[in-house]
Amino acid sequence: MTDPTIFGKIIRREIPADIVYEDEHLIAFRDIAPQAPVHVLFVPKLHVATLNDLQADRAEVVGRLAHAAAAYAKREGFAENGYRIVMNCNGDGGQTVFQIHLHLLAGAQLGRFGTPR
Ligand code: AMP
Repeated sequence: MTDPTIFGKIIRREIPADIVYEDEHLIAFRDIAPQAPVHVLFVPKLHVATLNDLQADRAEVVGRLAHAAAAYAKREGFAENGYRIVMNCNGDGGQTVFQIHLHLLAGAQLGRFGTPR
């Protein structure tokens, strides 16, 4: 299924983004509202609305996102200092774009997470 979200538009080059990596499986671009000095989104080209919709036989889709994020961290030189990867799911998780994506956050000591609002 074609990705109907804003991330699909970025993949199809219908809207601009600051793309930092792309391969046949995924794209990575800077978050428009960064929550850390480095905030990059890793998005698969296969459309999967939420993590709940990921079929077992497509689990490698998420593995590729994590591997690409780690490779980016190594290339950019902050892998040893560290980073955080986050995937939000549905309302309580704070998901706002319904195409699965992995947030890579880095560049500073990050605060704790998971506190109810
Ligand atoms: P989530 O809340 O986990 O669904 O994350 C969606 C993320 O997409 C948010 O951090 C937004 O700031 C980011 N975002 C939304 N639109 C764009 C865009 N056009 N370019 C880059 N990042 C975006």
